[in-house]
Amino acid sequence: MNPLPLALTPKKILLIGAGKVAAQKARAILESDCPLFILAKEVRDDYFLDKEVKLAPFSPQELEGFDLIIDATGDEALGRWLWEHKKEYRYWLNVVDVPALCDFYFSATVRRGDLCVSVSSGGASPTLAQGVRDKIARFLPSLLAPLLNRLKEERQKGRIDPKSALPSIQKALGKVFLIGCGPHSVGNLTLKALETIEILDVALIDALVGEEILNLLSPQCLQISVSKQKGCHSYTQEEINGLMLRYAKEGLNVGRLKGGDPMVFGRVAEEAGFLMEQGIEVELLSGVTSFLAGCLQSGITPTLRGVSAGALVVSAHLKESRFHDEWLAWLKDSPYTLVVLMAHSFAREITLGAKNRGVPLTIPAAFVSKIDSPSPKSVIGNLGCLEEMAKECEKPAILVIGEAVKESLRMPYVGERVILE
Ligand code: SAH
Repeated sequence: MNPLPLALTPKKILLIGAGKVAAQKARAILESDCPLFILAKEVRDDYFLDKEVKLAPFSPQELEGFDLIIDATGDEALGRWLWEHKKEYRYWLNVVDVPALCDFYFSATVRRGDLCVSVSSGGASPTLAQGVRDKIARFLPSLLAPLLNRLKEERQKGRIDPKSALPSIQKALGKVFLIGCGPHSVGNLTLKALETIEILDVALIDALVGEEILNLLSPQCLQISVSKQKGCHSYTQEEINGLMLRYAKEGLNVGRLKGGDPMVFGRVAEEAGFLMEQGIEVELLSGVTSFLAGCLQSGITPTLRGVSAGALVVSAHLKESRFHDEWLAWLKDSPYTLVVLMAHSFAREITLGAKNRGVPLTIPAAFVSKIDSPSPKSVIGNLGCLEEMAKECEKPAILVIGEAVKESLRMPYVGERVILE
């Protein structure tokens, strides 16, 4: 394998064949800006329908004037003939899938402007090379493209000061991933989140992220638990933002691991907005929210046809630890199912609030506790007995209120189910 990337532009390329394999090669060549000519006996792949293909059997004079020849015909005899006559016609050859008859290989590439990372397995396994390329692409920020343009301009103007460019290069290499880790188990993690968690250098972890998910972090990954924990310092939003910024500026892959989906009461706007303002690249990765996983665990269909016209997701706990219950107004003659997050500690207050607002206390309600964990539990009752229900289960829990809750009794559910009258 040659570790020297050669400047091959512009070199005239001849592709022989117009089948499926040839189409793959043609797509890759298109990215290289090299002029491409195609010779084939017949077109066997739709890709070539709108391309210019010379339809003719192979003959040696077709080789005149080409620098690179790619034989994608699968014709063994032709491959060998081309290899034997290389010197005569002065071309470099690639007989697809026959490494012994190749002067050069196709590599899996990822580009950010002029920056090109090329992964080759020396013809041994293009699939493996693509897998490695995909992994690199996950953390290679798009911001590298504009930075590279700037550095190129400076270089052309003769202003090269590697020392002064270093901080901006390092900053552009850093990236922050705001990752939804689902309600608890690895089983509810998305594949994209899984792949990303594996490549993190630093992880800032929320309390609701499941233990087994943390086991996926690499041993070198710096883990910082930023949630409130008994006897430990709990980080303010500003401190969390500061940590993400600091590590991203060092050029690291920073993961902000959040329970459920980051877009559901996940403070994403505060964090992503701050980082974007600081010129740091941010990627959001969705997760399974406890709102939906909890309904499923308990057998509650929040949008049950004929019973509930839709679902509202609210929180009983807003900024500055304040309890709030304006959402109770939605329950009066409501066609909807209400899903309340962060409600478990306020069970008594919610019942009181409902009473004060004249909301019927007979509306069915359920606490769905420890969703997706080894000890899931649902407690079913009504708005009038929330305090009693909360005592039957532990945090974290979601509260579901509405007629759809009653219908769940006919549905399959996971874990323990307690029904209070
Ligand atoms: N982004 C999260 C919600 C964050 S707010 C999501 O999409 O799920 C935190 C609240 O989510 C908790 O108070 C609780 O109501 C709910 N919650 C999160 N994980 C839970 C779990 N495993 N079991 C029960 N409730 C959960």
